[in-house]
Amino acid sequence: MKKHNQPIVDRSTRAVWAGEKEYRVHGASQVPVVHSVAYTYDDLDDWYEVATGNKKGHIYGRNTNPTVESFEHKLRDLEGAEAATSFSTGMAAISNSLLTFLRPGDRVVSIKDTYGGTNKIFSEFLPQMNINVTLCETGNHEELEKEISKGCEVLYLETPTNPTVKITDIKRMVKAAKAAGAYVFVDNTFATPILQNPLDYGVDLVIHSATKFLGGHADALGGAVCGREELVEKVFHYREINGATMDPMAAYLMIRGMKTLHLRMKQSCESAIKIAKYLQSHEQVDQVFYPGLKDHPGHDIAKKQMSQFGGMLSFSMKGGMDAVRAFLPKLKYANRAANLGAVETTVGPARTTSHIENTPEERAALGIPESLVRYSVGIEDTEDLINDLEQAMTHIPSTIGTK
Ligand SMILES: *Cc1c(COP(=O)(O)O)cnc(C)c1O
Repeated sequence: MKKHNQPIVDRSTRAVWAGEKEYRVHGASQVPVVHSVAYTYDDLDDWYEVATGNKKGHIYGRNTNPTVESFEHKLRDLEGAEAATSFSTGMAAISNSLLTFLRPGDRVVSIKDTYGGTNKIFSEFLPQMNINVTLCETGNHEELEKEISKGCEVLYLETPTNPTVKITDIKRMVKAAKAAGAYVFVDNTFATPILQNPLDYGVDLVIHSATKFLGGHADALGGAVCGREELVEKVFHYREINGATMDPMAAYLMIRGMKTLHLRMKQSCESAIKIAKYLQSHEQVDQVFYPGLKDHPGHDIAKKQMSQFGGMLSFSMKGGMDAVRAFLPKLKYANRAANLGAVETTVGPARTTSHIENTPEERAALGIPESLVRYSVGIEDTEDLINDLEQAMTHIPSTIGTK
C-alpha cells in the first residue's frame, strides 16, 4: 500500500502539527473555524473548474470545508493513510462505509461484540436491504475464518470491543479476508492511532468515532474513515450526497483535542493497568476485563498489535447490581454517563450504556454480566482514582454478599 507522502515523524509530533499548515490564514498559528456555507467566485470559469474537481477549492459546506479538511488531514497523517474523510458522528462513518460498498444479496461477516449501534445496523437495517450478516463469537478466530471462507464482501471488526474489551487478531483476519476477496473494515475507536494502526496489517478502511478519544473532551460529535484514496473517495461521495457532514466547529474541537491525544492516551493507559490490578485484588470485585492483564484471553494478541492496552476496562461485582447501586453514585471523580474516552473518568453499567438496546437475555448470551461496570479511565492522577474507587466501595452494605 502506498504510504502517505508526509515525512515520517513520530505520531506524537504528527498529532500536534499534521494537517494544519495550508489552512492557517493571516499568519494565524491556529486553524480557523470557517462557518461559511458557500464559497464565492467572481470568475465563472474558475468556479466551474473547482466545481468539476479540476481545481482545488471549496463550493458548498455539505461537500467540503477548510476546517473539516484540516481535521481529515491530521487524522490521515496519524493513521498513516493515503486519504481520510469525516462524518457528523461515528455511527454515520460506520453506516456510510457499509452502505457505500454493500448491495442486495451481499454478505457481511462480523463479531457479536461490536458497538451497540453497529450491532443494530447488522441485526436490523442491513437485513431489510437483503444484505446477509453473520455474527461470530468475538475472539473465536476459527469460526471467523470458517465464515469468511464461505465468501463475503466485507469483514467488519472492532478491537478492542465494548465493554468486555475483547481482542481480535487483525493480521490473521486480514489474511482470511484477502483469500476470500473481501474488504476489511476495523473500528479503531478504542485503540486510537496512537496505540494501534490497522492499515499496517492490510486493513482497507479504519473507522473512528472521533467523539471519544480523538476529540477527548466530550464536547463534540464526529466520525472518520481512513484508507486508500480510491476507497475513501467512494465513501466521501456517498457521504457528500447522503449529507452526514461534520460540523466545522466540531472539526475545530477535534483538531484541538488531537494535539494532546498521545499525552492523554499515555496517562490513561498507565492508570488503567494499575486500576485493573487494584480491582482484581478487591474482595467485592468478581471479574476484571482489561487486555493488559495476563489472564485476559486476548492479552497475547493485544501485545502484538497494540503498543499499549488502552484506557478502557470493565469489571463485575460479587454483590451484583445491588453492589453497583451502592457504590457507583459515591464516586467523586467519575461522570456517570454514556460516553467514554474523555479527559474525565467516565463510568456506567454496561446494561445502561453500551448495551442498553439489548434484552437481559441478549446481554447474558454476549457474556455481559448485569453488574458489569464500564470504566473509561481519564487523565486524573492514578492514585486519586484508586482512592476514589476504594472509598466508594466502602459504601456497599455488609448485607450485600461478597461471595
Ligand atoms: C461511540 C462509538 C461508536 C459510535 O460513535 P458516535 O460518535 O456516538 O456515533 C462507534 N464505535 C465505537 C467503538 C464507539 O465507542
